[in-house]
Order: sequence, then C-alpha cells, then structure tokens
Amino acid sequence: MGVDYEGIGLKVGLEVHQQLSSEKKLFCGCKTELFKEQPEITFLRRLRPTQSELGQIDPAAFFEFQKGVKILYEANKETACLVEMDEEPPHDLNPNALEAALMISLMLGAKPVDEIHIMRKTVIDGSNTTGFQRTCVVAFNGKIETREKIVPIQHLGLEEDAARKMDENDNVLTYRIDRLGIPLVEIATAPAIHTPQEAGEIALAVGRVLRATGRVKRGLGTIRQDLNVSIRGGGLVEIKGVQELELVSVVVENEVQRQLKLLEIRAELSKRDVKEVDFQDEFSDVTRIFAETKCKVIRAAVEKGRRVLAVRLSSFGGLLKRELMPDVRLGTEMADRAKFWGRVGGIFHTDELPAYEITLKEVDELKCAVKAKPQDAVVFVADTLENASDALKAVVERAKKASKEVPTETRAARPDGTTHYMRPRPGAARMYPETDVPPIQISPSYLQNLRKTLPELPEKKMQRLMQVYGLNEKLVRQVLDSEFSQLFEEAVRESGASPTLVAVVLTETLKALKRDGVEVERVSDGDLLELFRLVGRGEIAKEAIADMINWIAENEGAKVSDAINALGLGMLPQTELEMIVDTLIEENKRLLTERGEKAFGTLMGLVMKKVRGRAKADSVTKLVKQKLKGH
Ligand SMILES: [Zn+2]
Repeated sequence: MGVDYEGIGLKVGLEVHQQLSSEKKLFCGCKTELFKEQPEITFLRRLRPTQSELGQIDPAAFFEFQKGVKILYEANKETACLVEMDEEPPHDLNPNALEAALMISLMLGAKPVDEIHIMRKTVIDGSNTTGFQRTCVVAFNGKIETREKIVPIQHLGLEEDAARKMDENDNVLTYRIDRLGIPLVEIATAPAIHTPQEAGEIALAVGRVLRATGRVKRGLGTIRQDLNVSIRGGGLVEIKGVQELELVSVVVENEVQRQLKLLEIRAELSKRDVKEVDFQDEFSDVTRIFAETKCKVIRAAVEKGRRVLAVRLSSFGGLLKRELMPDVRLGTEMADRAKFWGRVGGIFHTDELPAYEITLKEVDELKCAVKAKPQDAVVFVADTLENASDALKAVVERAKKASKEVPTETRAARPDGTTHYMRPRPGAARMYPETDVPPIQISPSYLQNLRKTLPELPEKKMQRLMQVYGLNEKLVRQVLDSEFSQLFEEAVRESGASPTLVAVVLTETLKALKRDGVEVERVSDGDLLELFRLVGRGEIAKEAIADMINWIAENEGAKVSDAINALGLGMLPQTELEMIVDTLIEENKRLLTERGEKAFGTLMGLVMKKVRGRAKADSVTKLVKQKLKGH
C-alpha cells in the first residue's frame, strides 16, 4: 500500500519470550510439559495483593479487575508441586536453565551480569498463583544482525512462564499451572526497527540464534513475541502474544494502519469542532424503548430486570464504523473497553443500526431520548445498572481519547495478525527482590568455559552447510528456519541419504503434508531418522517417504516398520520385479509392438505405476531396457 514507514517515524522494539527445553522448571523439579487430561488437583483462590505489592499498577484498575473474580487453578502431580501452588518457597534457580540463558546471551554478544538477582514482578491477572512473576536479568547490551541491519539488544532475562488460561466465564477464571514455572528467556531489542519487514527479519534472526543453541522448546506456543510499536504523533502500543515469527511483520503493518486511521479520525473530529464539553458522563435509561423489542440480546437482559443505558457521542456519526484494520473499527475499540471495564458482553451503536432486529423506529426513539442530532452517534448497553454505567464510562473515555490522541495501551495479537484491546498499559512494573532465592555469582572462569562450547552462529552455519553439503541458499535457509537444523546434519551423517533429499523432506515435504492436515508433529525425530536410514540403505524408495510419514502420523504409537508392512512398501526383490516386468510385456505385447521405438517409455510408465515406492527408478530402467532387447 506504499506506506512511507521512515517518513511516519515508525519505531518497533521486539521482546521475544522463548521456553527453554530444560527438563525441570525454573524453581522446582517438576516436568516442563503440558497435560491434556482432566486435572488431578483443583483449587480456588482470590487475589489479595497488598497495596505495596501493587507497585505502579493503577489500583483502580486492579480493584476493578478483581471485583468478585475467583480463580480456579488446575494441576496434575507430574507438572506441579507445592511451589507452583504457592504453598512452599521456590527452590534454587535451575542451573541448566541459567546456563542456556547465558549461552544465548554470549551468542548475542551481550555482557552477562556478575551476580544474578531474582526479582518479583507484580502480575494482576491471576496467571501466577503468587501474584507475581519471578524474573532476573542475565545480560545487557547485545546485538542481533541480519544482512542489512544491526539492532541493539537491551537486555536478556530469565523468567518463569505463567499459568495458561483455559476458560473465562462470569466470575471464574480457570488457569492450568502446568505451564507455570517453565523457564523462559526474554530478549528485548532497542526500538530501533523501522519497517514491518525489518521487524519480521529481526524476529527470524533471533529465532535462528535461539534454535542454534539446541536448548529451546519447539512448536506452537513455545515462542511468543511482544511488540512495542509507535509512529510519530501516534501512541506507544504494546502488542502481546504473537506466536508465529512469520506474523510479526503483518502485526506491525496492521498496527501502523490502525494508528494512521485513528489520526485521520482525530483530524475529522477536529474539523467537526468536537470539544471537551461535548462529552457527556450522564447516561439515559432507555429501557422502556425496548420493552417490546425483538432483539434477542436486549430482550433477554430486560426480562432479567436489567437496564438499557444510552449515551450520545456528539459529532461521532459515521466514525464508529470506520475500519482501522480488518475486523476492527472505532466501535470495536469502544466495545473492547466496555467489556473490560464494564464486564458487559458488548455494546450497540447507531452506526450499525438498524440491525440485530432493532428497528428503525426504536433507533429514532433512542435518538430522540438522548437528544441526538443527525451528525451524532448513540451507544447503548443492556446490563445491570452498575455494569452498563461502567461500560458507557469506558466508551466515553475512549471517544474523548479519539479526539485527542492514539491511546497508549496493551493489545493482544490474534492468530490472523490483527489485534484487540487488552488493558491500559501499566507504568514500568516495579520490581522487588525475591528473598527466598539467594543471589548467584557468575564467575569469569565459568563464562570462559561456556564460551568454548558455544554453537555456531546461524549465518556461519549457513555458509558451512552450503559448502559441505552442496545445497543452495534457499534450501539451507529453509533447513535453518525449520525445527530440524540439528536433525538435518545428524540424518545426513547417519543415514547416507542424499543431503538434498533430507533437506527437502525435513522442510518442503513436511510443510506440504501439514498443509494437507497431516499431524506431522506426531512423527518423532527418531522415526524420521529411521526413514532416512532405510532410504540410505536402499530398503525403501524415496518416493515412499511422504506416504510413510502420513501413515505414522495417523496411527498413534506406530513404528516405521509397521508403516512398511501396512503400506506394502519395502523394496521388491529383483526376481519379483522381473516377474512384474515380464507379465506386463506379455499383457501388452500388441501395444508395445505398435509403439515401436516408443515402447520403452510406455513400458516404463506401466511398470513404475505398479511398483511405485517399492523399486528404484534406475534399476527399473535397466531391467526394462534389458527385457525389451530380449523381445
Ligand atoms: Zn513444582
């Protein structure tokens, strides 16, 4: 769309959170795995942080949030103990996780601290049973390089992952604490990225360094990016939870669009001469207008004795339906806030009406009741008096902001690269020391030894793979960007299969199968290695690999040998192959004679169709030539 990103002063900072592959958690010996079954243990808590622990989190925001909210925690015994349940102090910091974090720091050229101090960072959403997250700074001042750019890394941290939210209804939040305490490294770049494309490339480059260590978890949910995005004259917006590296650039593009559109709306409001005094904070009870309504949502609320409150937004007519990014309008932004602050299901506004079985007559009566002029918009909510009033307050607050600025806020990423409002952006979180875990010295000799064991940096590895295995750059990039940069070399070394074949299978073949809905994650590294060994020894044809992976993925617990039997693969013995060729010649005698010189091609096609995956093409060629001569 030709946005001049430099011209609008785009600044992006990345915060990458990556789970380490450590077997144990950061402060206890529990397994770092997630469970799918029913929980063995559940317990209910309410949040009761003291004022001093709230730090810079707006107390009003906190009390609003915890109003009547209970939190149900789910656990099983393998993945949680008394530490996660906050019934026992944390154990010592996991040395294996610290080593991995230091390794990553050194690979990114950062300077490790002399002494690790564990700190507590207040968390108010219930995702930590303690009400805080344990975190520590491991190193400062590194850098990440791509071919075009060097971006400073401000700091690297090591921290515990939070519990994962399973459900949210009415006043109960359900969290599973299997994820709580899994070691995470946090890598924060300077806000020195200036285009969406650069943001994507830097994210990929960080991802490559992380994978190169061989010390990080793989798969969806194991890496999460937070982005800080701002443009000149816009607002600093934090976007949380981008799960795919490939999405980073899309999220940045969308946020830039959103901010540009919000600035356009501000200009429009200024043209319409909207002033501070135009914003009402008194709401009209319009329940009687909807006494007979056909709109199901409103009727259900009214039948429960709830009220319909409305507010006029002067000169906002038509602006609420302005699209800011796909599926996000100014009205959506207001609805998100109404949901957060007013605990309501959603809002209605006149820019989208009549609809939802709300009639034109009802809309007219509504406008009349709040004295709306044609250029105004009206927003209304059906809920308890308290919730509806809190919701409309939030709507008016958002409208006021629209006339002034792009609000500073925290948003959450969706899987399609769009975002939604999450909460106001807290000030810099105040940290206070974790007194239950003593500081840890990092000695120069320990670092010196660690330096000697560092894995190759991805750019160097790329050059080497191209040289040693004769692969082209595109294929090497694919291997390094896949989860299999280590398995690749192991497979080539052990199996004797061609490097190109191994690289193509581990990248393109698996991707294609995944696109077709095959759950390729179910095929273990060991299975893949075994497949390559079989190909290397000439026991199965390379054409059979995709079918075998497909079969193993579909049959839980199956081995490679089961797949060979089930698919009737395995190489045909020479005698059987000869028999097949003889039979086909016999059956197609006339056809082959007619084809004359082209008989070879015809017969090859017939044979390959019959033995696909069970014989090598070159040995079939040889045999077919030989047999045709004999006839
Ligand atoms: Zn534990």
